[in-house]
Amino acid sequence: MEKTIENSSRDILHDPFDREHLWHPYTSTINPLPTYKVTGADGVRIRLADGRELIDGMSSWWCMIHGYNNPRLNRAAIDQIGKMSHVMFGGLTHEPAIELGKMLLEVAPPSMHNIFYADSGSVAVEVAMKMAVQASISRSGDHAKTNFVTIRSGYHGDTWNAMSVCDPVTGMHGAFGPALPIRYFAPAPTIKPWEEWDSADFEPLEAIIEAHHHELAALILEPMVQGAGGMRFYHPQYLREARRVCDKYGIYLIFDEIATGYWRTGRMFAWEHAGVEPDIMCIGKGLTAGYLTLSAVLTTAEVADTISRGEAGVMMHGPTFMANPLACAIAIESLRMLREQDMPAIVGHLESEIKRLIAPAASVPGVREVRTLGSIGVIEMEEPVNLAEFQRKCVDRGIWVRPFGRNVYFMPPYIISDEDLQYLIEQTIECIR
Ligand SMILES: *Cc1c(COP(=O)(O)O)cnc(C)c1O
Repeated sequence: MEKTIENSSRDILHDPFDREHLWHPYTSTINPLPTYKVTGADGVRIRLADGRELIDGMSSWWCMIHGYNNPRLNRAAIDQIGKMSHVMFGGLTHEPAIELGKMLLEVAPPSMHNIFYADSGSVAVEVAMKMAVQASISRSGDHAKTNFVTIRSGYHGDTWNAMSVCDPVTGMHGAFGPALPIRYFAPAPTIKPWEEWDSADFEPLEAIIEAHHHELAALILEPMVQGAGGMRFYHPQYLREARRVCDKYGIYLIFDEIATGYWRTGRMFAWEHAGVEPDIMCIGKGLTAGYLTLSAVLTTAEVADTISRGEAGVMMHGPTFMANPLACAIAIESLRMLREQDMPAIVGHLESEIKRLIAPAASVPGVREVRTLGSIGVIEMEEPVNLAEFQRKCVDRGIWVRPFGRNVYFMPPYIISDEDLQYLIEQTIECIR
């Protein structure tokens, strides 16, 4: 009898159908990692099926910037559903797409002029790479200028071309081998934003571009922060050098701001740290404040028109859910909320609090380094973290933190209170001990 009760309460939290039939990100069907069933979420709290609540330190993978179940975002969604949740974008247009486009151009790098709405971050990266190839062939008349260069420890998504520019070791190259296009990789930058710049950090990338620019369409980078590829922060001068070399050798510069956008690094977008503009920029994740999947690729009039003057005469992409009105309406409201708040002060406060609170982790055995940029805090361990065990400890303490590899990190919703942030980080450090 006792056994049955115990089993059923466990089944409420760890659903047996889910375990047997549903795939979760990067998991085995033979030995799946445990999943915790969620019944609701409010503000920074995720409610589990057994009634417990967790303070969210992940913003559901960077996107839930205003927290869960926000009344203004809910209202925007409901109002839009009453008008139309979707309509095709081929031959038709609508106010949510237009209004969002205007708001994006107000906050984007000034040279951005044309917007392509796509449905996820990975698709935005595919679209950006296709743009670069089409524009590059059109501009140079050279069909060989179609390859890409990037830096190690990057992450750009899980679709085919996005995978090809992810880190070749920690990324998915091993599993897919020769099926993936071969790209050029420079070592990951090593100089941190707060350290003194050393031009030696950039030389390997410059050497690759110098040697191979005849076959390169573009350089793709996550500006300032390499996210899922290693949670590494690097110097803004690296981006200025990248701009200089791309111009010198006639290749495009793509910034993947899917993770870094919407104030996560302390600026609206991370390019602002360096003051250099890309030719093509991808945004996603926080764009709809975590409500729906939507991304966008922004580019200059030069790139857009060069594509249009090329052989195809058009940009060769058109997703079914392009510019989904429901997603656009929520994105508009989220951008309004960001505009109304003093975001530099909010993220500045989060940064100093995270810095203060994670500092004690530096002296915990097994910790290699702690670092903070904007509202991102990282505790890098010497060894990879045992994910299942670590998460069980976190859940037992009422927090939600999901490390990858050696990195235990925080990127909480911006609305988190000082008390919750303190509890989140102190309890995480206890779990590490
Ligand atoms: C998450 C991420 C992507 C992929 O976005 P999805 O919406 O998961 O496809 C691409 N680039 C960066 C930098 C990301 O962090």
